[in-house]
Amino acid sequence: MPVLRVALDLPLHRLFDYIAPSATLADAGLRVRVPFGRGEKIGVIVEVVDTSDWPLEQLKPAGEILRDLLPLPADFFALCEFASTYYQAAFGEVVMQALPAGLKRIAPPSRRKARTVAPVAAVAPPALTAEQSVAVAAVASDGGFSAYLLHGVTGSGKTEVYLRLIERTLAAGKQVLLLVPEINLTPQLEGRVRARFPAAGIVSLHSELAEAARERNWLAASAGEAEIVLGTRLAIFTPLPALGLIVIDEEHDPSFKQQDGMRYSARDVGVFRAHQLGIPILLGSATPSLESWANAQNGRYGLINLRQRANPQATLPRVKMIDTRRIVLKEGVSEPLIAAIKQRLERGEQSLVFLNRRGYAPVLACPACGWVSRCTRCAANMVLHLADRRLRCHHCGLEHRVPKACPTCGNQDIHPFGRGTQRLEGWLQEQFPEARVVRVDRDSVKSRKQWEAMLERIHGGDADILVGTQMLAKGHDFPNLTLVGALGADSALFAADWRAPERLFAQLMQVAGRAGRAELKGEVLIQTEYPDHPLYAALVAHDYPGFAASMLKEREQAGFPPYAFQAMLRAEAPEMADAIAFLKAAAALPEVAEHDNVMIYDPVPMKMSRLANLERGQLLAESFSRPALQAFLPHWREAVDGLKAPSKLRWHLEVDPFEF
Ligand code: ADP
Ligand code: ZN
Ligand code: ZN
Repeated sequence: MPVLRVALDLPLHRLFDYIAPSATLADAGLRVRVPFGRGEKIGVIVEVVDTSDWPLEQLKPAGEILRDLLPLPADFFALCEFASTYYQAAFGEVVMQALPAGLKRIAPPSRRKARTVAPVAAVAPPALTAEQSVAVAAVASDGGFSAYLLHGVTGSGKTEVYLRLIERTLAAGKQVLLLVPEINLTPQLEGRVRARFPAAGIVSLHSELAEAARERNWLAASAGEAEIVLGTRLAIFTPLPALGLIVIDEEHDPSFKQQDGMRYSARDVGVFRAHQLGIPILLGSATPSLESWANAQNGRYGLINLRQRANPQATLPRVKMIDTRRIVLKEGVSEPLIAAIKQRLERGEQSLVFLNRRGYAPVLACPACGWVSRCTRCAANMVLHLADRRLRCHHCGLEHRVPKACPTCGNQDIHPFGRGTQRLEGWLQEQFPEARVVRVDRDSVKSRKQWEAMLERIHGGDADILVGTQMLAKGHDFPNLTLVGALGADSALFAADWRAPERLFAQLMQVAGRAGRAELKGEVLIQTEYPDHPLYAALVAHDYPGFAASMLKEREQAGFPPYAFQAMLRAEAPEMADAIAFLKAAAALPEVAEHDNVMIYDPVPMKMSRLANLERGQLLAESFSRPALQAFLPHWREAVDGLKAPSKLRWHLEVDPFEF
């Protein structure tokens, strides 16, 4: 009697068996309706077998096997198996998160028709620069797995290298998966790909697509009809029958890391997938993650360098520090920066002031009684947004009106402290009344449409001074932009999170890369109280390799990744004591003692110790051997699962944790 082994969207580390008299081996990979509890669920048939670990008479019969789609291929299951094992996630959840929502519902599927995209005029490729030619030739085309890190300074033409490799892959009849951090922020890239390959089927896959569009695109990709899949991290799990190349652009970007549900790194899953399929993968960045850089240094990845900007007229901007220790700042802005902006205005060029903090001011406070605008649900301050007169928590979303007086003592003279982009925007407008000041952050640009309109406005020259967050740092070409000023960068130098300097360096290097992209020379001014800090020195010298070498040395001495391997157990509960007690019990499990090459630290409250009314604690597990950590984790996870916990306590395990 045929037995279906079915993956269901449940946090359980097992498959579910059902009998199906008419099933055949060819049904593996199809979806199936199965009875579950008092209802029905849609699952995926992983295997069709003829025995079960359960007595056959106890198995329930499966419902209808859905034959409207091609079966999911074996390599898709192998990828899910890897992710499930590596990230300690339930296999069924991994499988189901990879499917578009419409395919997981009991309701009959909508009629899916591929949409034809208006043809675009083909754009002839430019002649490659010498460095680009070397880069393209360096990527093996003779089959077999190989991973490459394409380290190219901003404006060096990494995209052109991708396009040539895509062209080669399409010519071989294969599909390409091109991952980008946030599709909304890179409409230019999508346009470039479409313009270069007007005849190719190109689909995008990201979370902001409407459900029907995402399903349509997923189906086109998994049926092999779309040759180019342009996606964000979730696209890494798309079944692709003829995948021949994976490209991950801006591979250092934190958005490749999923921070809830199954916490995975799309970059790392991508490398596994390329390895599994025996195909090349290219990771591109001007500021690679230290993990990838270390892999390129130790020879695991091939290193390809683009050291020059592609446009011979465009040179790298000059980076200078403004020492703010001995000068007076006005609203946080120094005289030399104001003078530089003024000069740009006179020359009709654009300036960008970078401040990675949105809102008007990070906090509102009462000088009389010491009240500050704390979020009642989080260990964080409510940020003042003056544009719509709201206080808003950037962590849990709680918001309310700005009080007219101090809620504690009634004092009407309450003040904003510190500054965000809104305040800076207003102040710059006062200083330069004739200038067009434009703020670019997640409050002013919420949708892709708004972002495209904003880019158009900046490109069209209808903006003199841009004030913005890291949104402005990502991959845009602003030919008339010649000045970048950075405020408030120092705070990341000494942050508790040991990844903060790496992120700061990447952000400053990327934002600096916006200046001087065309014929106009660019200048970058960074306000700091630590002008001699090695991070800034490396920035002045455009020396990513030097910066990376010194950071990696520090990490090695401190025993941090990539020289150690980590997993974080986190618990959240209404009371911190419960969370910590749970983590203490997890640390004391016999499995911990049995694996003596894994070290467990003491449980501590998280840096954001309270989020949306839950207290949060964490417990770090670490080993100098990845296999040792991987051998330990399934036993530990199972034992933790068996621990008694208060009913409101939730926990999860994150492998290769990203934020501390
Ligand atoms: P990156 O992604 O490395 O920052 P881009 O791919 O955006 O750089 O390229 C920077 C600029 O150089 C773009 O305007 C692009 O059109 C141009 N460019 C790239 N390659 C060439 C080339 N071979 N010849 C002329 N211009 C090029
Ligand atoms: Zn008060
Ligand atoms: Zn909050």
